[in-house]
Amino acid sequence: MANTAFVTLVTNDDYTLGALALVRSLKLSNPDRHIVVMATRSDLPLDQLDREGCDIRIVPRPEFSDDFVSRHSRERQHSVAPFTKGTKPKFHDPLDNFCKLRVWEFEEYQRVVFLDADTIVVRNIDRLFGYPEFSAAPNLYETLHDMHRLNSGVFVAEPSKATYAHMLEKLVVPETFWKRTDQTFLESYFPDWHGLPYVYNVLQYIYFHLPQLWEWASIRVVHYQYEKPWERFHERSEQLKPLIDLWYSILEDRKIPEDVPRYTPPQ
Ligand code: UDP
Ligand code: MN
Repeated sequence: MANTAFVTLVTNDDYTLGALALVRSLKLSNPDRHIVVMATRSDLPLDQLDREGCDIRIVPRPEFSDDFVSRHSRERQHSVAPFTKGTKPKFHDPLDNFCKLRVWEFEEYQRVVFLDADTIVVRNIDRLFGYPEFSAAPNLYETLHDMHRLNSGVFVAEPSKATYAHMLEKLVVPETFWKRTDQTFLESYFPDWHGLPYVYNVLQYIYFHLPQLWEWASIRVVHYQYEKPWERFHERSEQLKPLIDLWYSILEDRKIPEDVPRYTPPQ
């Protein structure tokens, strides 16, 4: 399909590093594709992304009322709807997640594949451009009960400024609190979302919670939800060591390993 692009988002230094690994992975697995990096500030360390040939677009956070901002602050989100399954890094600002919606403004593309800056693409995913709006994979990381929820780390969208304007109308409703930010919003905005095969968004906890689904040969995207591989030390770094090594081999050596060993539970 003509006029397509991969798009990611960065709002601070940490996610800019994440995006660099993502971009390097895309260049290995999906060569010659147009890659757009949405950045909310021009003072981020964007030079390496620029050298990789990314199309960097400065897009400010959508204008939200003070009320909406305070309802979705990091402090409030963590007290009203605490994360019990994993830990969000300190550099994660939930309000920044809503910047993803800006992708609908890129009308020059008929279709885009959005990828979180904490994902890496380890096999070709061009087929995603054949899926309609709105497609996403299930939020599968602990049990099969989560099959009916979507994860907004990888999705297919058809940009339209009219859709963007309509989305903002639905988003900024007085008193509304989007518990899991853009993810909860997109699920409600697109109740009939199309399900992608889970291999297009393999959440890192699948590795140890659902090891029967870790089939390296069929995995296309690895998504480091919760703790990030570039955090020096985190609660899961031991359990996730092979996946952290995978992330570094892409960032530093520009190589996608032939294999990633299966999880071995502690004896
Ligand atoms: N993001 C960002 N800065 C933030 C929060 C989010 O740039 O402070 C972007 C980034 O692309 C990130 C995505 O929004 O990958 C969603 O956040 P994250 O991946 O940390 O959420 P999780 O996948 O852990 O739910
Ligand atoms: Mn993510």
